[in-house]
Amino acid sequence: MIELRTPAQIEEMRPAGRFVAEVLTALSAAADVGVNLLELDALAHQMIKDRGAKSCYIDYHPSFGASPFGKVLCTSVNDAVLHGLPHDYALVDGDLLSLDFAVSVDGWVADSAVSLVVGTPREEDLKLIEVATKALEAGIAAAVPGNRLGDISWAIGEVAHHAGLGVNLQFGGHGVGRTMHGDPHVPNDGRAGRGLKLKSGLVIAIEPWFLHTTDEIYTDPDGWTLRSQDGSRGAHMEHTVAITADGPIVLTAR
Ligand code: MG
Repeated sequence: MIELRTPAQIEEMRPAGRFVAEVLTALSAAADVGVNLLELDALAHQMIKDRGAKSCYIDYHPSFGASPFGKVLCTSVNDAVLHGLPHDYALVDGDLLSLDFAVSVDGWVADSAVSLVVGTPREEDLKLIEVATKALEAGIAAAVPGNRLGDISWAIGEVAHHAGLGVNLQFGGHGVGRTMHGDPHVPNDGRAGRGLKLKSGLVIAIEPWFLHTTDEIYTDPDGWTLRSQDGSRGAHMEHTVAITADGPIVLTAR
């Protein structure tokens, strides 16, 4: 079911968005060579406790998950791109790390992700992050009343195709509100002018993610982490965006 929020409700969603942005900024600063993924999860967990927020991940147990997630943060490294389950791993120079974080504050959810390189970057990884960032910006720009859902998907897909990247349609953006995953599904590629008509009050997570040389993924034996089929690396950028008459509001802007 598609739910629309009033301007007052969108205002109520801002603290969640600001907090998610704050945590991702702190985690990005903390992520360094030698830092363990479990330390990043612990930092996020402490910030959640200090803020009195509620993790959307820790008890999360959807049909595709092996068991409740058990952590508050997704840490996807190199060939892992989505749903990375934090484990005992110390980051090494050149690692491509994607952080995905969602919490509820005062009953409203915000969801955001960022990719970064730890230590010395590879040129191709910076390029992949740049493409994902541009795709996110293009998707956000298309998130205006009167457009259709397909316009957002098309805008994202166009950036990917221009960069010579494939697009996986299994996992994409989603409605955000009282819970983390609502309608509509927001695919990262599609046909302009098609699909749901966008209205003021629709709040969605827009989240392009791409892999260097494939669009195929498989699930790690941990039951959660999604890795590229061919071992190539991935990048993932996400914001929670409110569609309004005054244009898109990026609730998780950093
Ligand atoms: Mg997310």
